[in-house]
Amino acid sequence: MKLLVAVKRVIDYNVKPRVKMDGSGIDLANVKMSMNPFDEIAVEEAIRLKEKGVATEIVAVSIGPAKAQETLRTALAMGADRAILVQTDDEVEPLGVAKILAKIAGDEKPDMIVLGKQAIDDDSNQTGQMLAALLGWPQGTFASKVEPGDGKVKVTREVDGGLETVELNIPAVVTTDLRLNEPRYASLPNIMKAKSKPLETRTADELGVDISRRLETVKVSEPSKRQAGIKVGSVDELIDKLRETGVVG
Ligand code: AMP
Repeated sequence: MKLLVAVKRVIDYNVKPRVKMDGSGIDLANVKMSMNPFDEIAVEEAIRLKEKGVATEIVAVSIGPAKAQETLRTALAMGADRAILVQTDDEVEPLGVAKILAKIAGDEKPDMIVLGKQAIDDDSNQTGQMLAALLGWPQGTFASKVEPGDGKVKVTREVDGGLETVELNIPAVVTTDLRLNEPRYASLPNIMKAKSKPLETRTADELGVDISRRLETVKVSEPSKRQAGIKVGSVDELIDKLRETGVVG
């Protein structure tokens, strides 16, 4: 089984984002960037399938600036075999990413494409679904268990009411949820080894994919500050306060 894994370089989940003064976006100057946490889970799942002898090759793909090479090297250090960077300095929307991944899937012919359920910078939760639609492949989103076998893959999904299990024909698209696994840290020897693994750089133009924007960011602003609360000593006091403030009549 050949696996394609999509990894995005995003603002690190420990960083508190700062909105730019002009409200045009998030200030990323000198901010720590890392692999999207759900994509680490996607890479880990692919590696576990390879360790079980189910997967034979893992190709990590990222669409982003030259620095996204670091994200791909992390995927290689974790255990991916080779990497493709589709380099662009523009912000690429989920549909643009899905079109690029669909084109690469056409060239690479993977049996399964594993993505995160969402990128923690835009929180779109769209790319995997759009990719499955563009390819006409079945999809198993929010996976908490992935079990391939017999030309199919069984995916247990985290849904509102509990867990749902779906069986997909291969090739298929799977997106990872938090409980699927706990990603490993790359060891120092593997980080060193990853430096010599193949990393190919392409552009959207070379792939013949139009990634021009269809969405316009009108304004980015901080969430409004919440006012401090007060503590009340009794239910009667609470009711009085609610009356005073007009919440109850
Ligand atoms: P989103 O739909 O933006 O929330 O992203 C969902 C998933 O799509 C991510 O977890 C990644 O696996 C993949 N993805 C989105 N953008 C990119 C990108 N620029 N490069 C590689 N993978 C991406």
